[in-house]
Amino acid sequence: MSTTTTNFPSGLKPEELSAAGQNSTLPSKLSHKKVLDILNNKCSHSLQHLKQAHAIILRTGHFQDHYVSGTLVKCYANPHFNDFALAVRVFRQIPSPNVFVWNILLKGCLENNEPQMAVSSYKSILVFNSRPNKFTYPSLLKACAITGSVEEGTQFHAHVVKHGLSGDGHIKSAGIQMYSSFGLVKEARKILDDGDGESDVICWNAMIDGYLKCGLVEVAREVFESMPEKNIGSWNAMIRGLAKCGMIDSARKLFDDMSERDEISWSAIIDGYVKEGCFKEALEVFNEMQKQNIRPRKYILSSMLTACANLGALDLGRWIHSYMERNFIQMESVLGTALLDMYAKCGRLDTAWEVFENIPVKEVFTWNAMIGGLAIHGQADEAIKLFTKMNREKLKPNDITFIGVLNACAHAGMVDKGLALFHSVKEVYGIEPEIEHYGCVVDLLGRAGLLEEAEKFIGSMTVEPNAAIWGALANACRIHRNVELGEKVGWILLDMEPQNSGRYALLSNIYARAERWDDVARVRKLMKERGIKTIPGSTMIDLGGAVHEFKMGDGSHPETKEIHSMLKSIMEKMRMEGYSPKISQVPFDIDEEEKETALSLHSEKIAIAFGLLRTEPGTTLRVVKNLRVCEDCHSAFKLISQIYSRDIIMRDRARYHHFRNGVCSCKDFW
Ligand code: ZN
Ligand code: ZN
Repeated sequence: MSTTTTNFPSGLKPEELSAAGQNSTLPSKLSHKKVLDILNNKCSHSLQHLKQAHAIILRTGHFQDHYVSGTLVKCYANPHFNDFALAVRVFRQIPSPNVFVWNILLKGCLENNEPQMAVSSYKSILVFNSRPNKFTYPSLLKACAITGSVEEGTQFHAHVVKHGLSGDGHIKSAGIQMYSSFGLVKEARKILDDGDGESDVICWNAMIDGYLKCGLVEVAREVFESMPEKNIGSWNAMIRGLAKCGMIDSARKLFDDMSERDEISWSAIIDGYVKEGCFKEALEVFNEMQKQNIRPRKYILSSMLTACANLGALDLGRWIHSYMERNFIQMESVLGTALLDMYAKCGRLDTAWEVFENIPVKEVFTWNAMIGGLAIHGQADEAIKLFTKMNREKLKPNDITFIGVLNACAHAGMVDKGLALFHSVKEVYGIEPEIEHYGCVVDLLGRAGLLEEAEKFIGSMTVEPNAAIWGALANACRIHRNVELGEKVGWILLDMEPQNSGRYALLSNIYARAERWDDVARVRKLMKERGIKTIPGSTMIDLGGAVHEFKMGDGSHPETKEIHSMLKSIMEKMRMEGYSPKISQVPFDIDEEEKETALSLHSEKIAIAFGLLRTEPGTTLRVVKNLRVCEDCHSAFKLISQIYSRDIIMRDRARYHHFRNGVCSCKDFW
């Protein structure tokens, strides 16, 4: 934080002060108690009221009272006002602050994301000879944990012991948290076992949390089993920790065993599912939670928005948005960004823009999400415009921002602009390009058909090319039907990632497009020999808030019969429009007629047939495919959008496709 702000004697600018005084609706003489009353009750939401009270406090001399001036700082430090610098300015005007005032500042530092300031304040506390007390250390230890200040943290803890405060429960649990965050679980355990005073359940919970953060799952489980008493927090710590360690099934088991759950329990399990990519499960738990009338708060909402974004579940996403509005849930940056990301990924770029405009404080990741959203929709000009605006507003772009704009250029074929941007990453912004940025450039050149340049570029890289880099080149070879280079790169990829089924699929695809069936067979055979299983294609479609998932050749749906007769009628109509199935997209070892059937059973076609059956004419269909959409389905969707006059919005693993009137927004490059 900048500490160079001009010092006004009151902490407020003179004009602010006189304005506050003149417009004041408060009487000019107030008792000490009345002043505190006003500060505590009237000033928590209105900065204007707060400044009025401040003016009166100065005029009546109450500012000299530490209790009053400290409370004033506390009001200014309310994260709601988002102006901690002002709180610090007011703090600096307090003559020799006592420990009460310092503790308020420390807490304010934590609440306003300035933990480093808390750590460095400790020296001043000692210089001012304001004896730290049991309320000082929990904030300090927390600040050390956040900033990773091992040395200071250890020193502060030594002072705790010296001042005879080591028996205090709050200090104990903060100490356990701090040491475990440093990875020093033994030190943490020492506090739990040997410290003065009883360790309460909160300390035990902190210990479980600490073990799990350090990946010591079994030790955590033992502690959990052997705890003298457990509360909901103990269960929650286990669930959250197991989920974070990727053991979502164990977490779920504990969750199911709980006799009583609170919001944190639900949040822990939903968040765990989302982080593991189990979005459907997250949605199921969320629905269950709704049934039990538990009101979701903002953490759950932002996890759920991520799930919606990945499932293409626009209806639920919209419901969350209106829930936020109905309950006056603030559009702060994390939640707002999750919301705009959901809209962008569900194909509603217009609404994503609206949300973006309405987020009062936009962080770099907010801009990144909007730029990324524009990029996947192929709106490169808009993405670059936003990037320029970001620069104008003096916001420093980070590595992810560049991935966004470079991707936008790649998908729009803006080679020169993309290259210029890539060079600026280091030269203008001083950011060392990472492998992802190189990947974007390979993609940029490759998509534009500049395959040789792309290959040369890989050769000139200062970092070792990884599979993603070669993958981008191989994909470009597939798009531009360059078998020679594609073959070479395809085999490099098989060497690098022999277990990745997608690499085999890509190479066999490259051969298939050149009708080199023997080579297709060779790749398939190798795959079989190595025991590589393909990831089955699956497509999800969002209909009226429920997400339906279909797998290739799916016959499990209760309406299978209707779906299949719909599919048949779609195929007939398409054939009349001149559609012929692209047989090269099916494994060669089934005969021609079967091949055609296999194609018509691709999960995306089943999902679309179901969507056409279940929705009113003219309704936009939204689907999400787990793999890259195949060429056959892509051309089928173009025709379906024309024949049935439907917009089809599909997100596959590579990008966004918006089918309308027989064409796709990707211009057939994906
Ligand atoms: Zn397909
Ligand atoms: Zn497309």
